[in-house]
Amino acid sequence: MTVELNKRRKRPSWHKLTVSRVRPLTDDSLEVTLAVPPELRKTFDFKPGQHITFQRVEDDGSEVRRSYSLASTPRELAEHGTLRLGIKFIPKGSFSAYAKRVLAPGDVLEVLPPLGVFCTEPDPGRHYGAIVAGSGITPILSIAAAALDTGATVTLLYSNRTGESTMFADELAELERRHGDRLRLHHIRTRSEGASPLLTGRLTPDRFREVLTGLVDSEEIDEWFLCGPYEMVLGVKEVLEEAGARQIHTELYYVD
Ligand SMILES: Cc1cc2nc3c(=O)[nH]c(=O)nc-3n(C[C@H](O)[C@H](O)[C@H](O)COP(=O)(O)OP(=O)(O)OC[C@H]3O[C@@H](n4cnc5c(N)ncnc54)[C@H](O)[C@@H]3O)c2cc1C
Repeated sequence: MTVELNKRRKRPSWHKLTVSRVRPLTDDSLEVTLAVPPELRKTFDFKPGQHITFQRVEDDGSEVRRSYSLASTPRELAEHGTLRLGIKFIPKGSFSAYAKRVLAPGDVLEVLPPLGVFCTEPDPGRHYGAIVAGSGITPILSIAAAALDTGATVTLLYSNRTGESTMFADELAELERRHGDRLRLHHIRTRSEGASPLLTGRLTPDRFREVLTGLVDSEEIDEWFLCGPYEMVLGVKEVLEEAGARQIHTELYYVD
């Protein structure tokens, strides 16, 4: 019998992908579409919720690597050969400011294939819940679209300052039109008036407890996805745990 020693796991490698489209989503964010050639489709296949990583050398020679969740679905990759992501500009941010300043169709980026465990294999019998703020919508858009496609139900609480600063608002409205009440979308507004007092102002743990008594029945939800700033994600997670939530996934984009 031959025993294979030192069997190495294949490390993911960098690939060049071309930007095929750039469009503004809001005043401070944009959507970037990447074209994936047929020979790389398998390499870039992903589970809804995963992210890709870009590598870029700055003018001073330093290397910058940043991750961005995929907003598109595996089906879009299979049918159209595209990956879409949403980048929110961070003041003085090295990658996001570069994307805002210069990224244009035809540019070639160094990209690491999809990674991450903030994901699921959508199941038609499940009810998914998501609580997100700002650019935290990107992985949830993918998860929600893929889950709704299979026949699942999705409840989404999405917090933004105003309607104008809401990334992917049109795409979510389109999902609502297509899937009717299998998508239960609640926009929270922190700097303008929401649809009700419950949906106006920051989603603190106390406010979220009220949401769980008045608007969303956590008993109905099989699997939760939380994505956004540290404080909101951890606060909401604690309340869900108190309420006996069965499965909770979290993704933090930034910890100060
Ligand atoms: C798994 C994963 C997925 C992600 N997906 C997305 C996505 O879909 N869309 C998206 O826009 N971002 C996403 N991010 C965040 C992204 O990777 C970058 O951190 C972000 O774009 C800032 O990078 P930068 O180079 O522009 O700023 P940097 O040069 O890294 O930072 C500039 C300044 O901003 C602060 N800062 C850094 N990041 C943030 C932030 N997110 N919020 C507030 N302040 C910040 C830094 O402390 C610094 O002071 C994701 C992060 C992770 C880990």
